[in-house]
Amino acid sequence: MKKFNCPSCGAEVVFNSNHSVYAVCKFCHSMIVRHDLDVESIGTMANLPGDMSPFQIGTEGYYQGTHFSLVGRMKMGWEDGSWNEWFMATDDGRKGWLAEAQGFYSICFEVDPPPLEFAVRAIQSQKQDNQFIGSALVFNSQKLHIVDAKKATCIGSEGELPLAAPQGRMIVSVDLLGAYGEFASVEIETGKLRAYSGRYVDWKAMRCSNVRTFDGW
Ligand SMILES: [Zn+2]
Repeated sequence: MKKFNCPSCGAEVVFNSNHSVYAVCKFCHSMIVRHDLDVESIGTMANLPGDMSPFQIGTEGYYQGTHFSLVGRMKMGWEDGSWNEWFMATDDGRKGWLAEAQGFYSICFEVDPPPLEFAVRAIQSQKQDNQFIGSALVFNSQKLHIVDAKKATCIGSEGELPLAAPQGRMIVSVDLLGAYGEFASVEIETGKLRAYSGRYVDWKAMRCSNVRTFDGW
């Protein structure tokens, strides 16, 4: 854990995960980038639009026996809706994300460097107008199919993240699915490609605590 003072308002900004390089100050909403020794403000984040997510910063849970806590969120929008990408600090130090879309949850870990076949197929999906949807590839001896490729934009972010996520950050997101709940995604940002591998998870199996409560529930 590393602590800094917000360059704009002086409040304490905590980076719980060693992977985090970016944070939004919860008091003044400054977007803060962490360098080796200091932090820099790169603008201000507007309030995130409200949603019915059961998660919040500080929600804790388990994935395959390993404890995690949610430390940041990117809210992503595309032409038909939006989804949340929650960044997890995990007890085993892996770089994990919990994605939440229409009541479905998946947990993925970054695969760095991205497997070559993922990269090639993802770039093809992006360029060839979805003609690669349905094509199969093998990763970690799992057979996966490309099920979706879409352009998305960051609507907003909060907490700490391993990458800078200002509003308007644009990506192409390619989703891959296996026959037994295996899930992977590739995210293409100008000049960068990131691959994530994991699986769909069941709400109960995560044994979440410190979930969000809604007034009147
Ligand atoms: Zn601040």
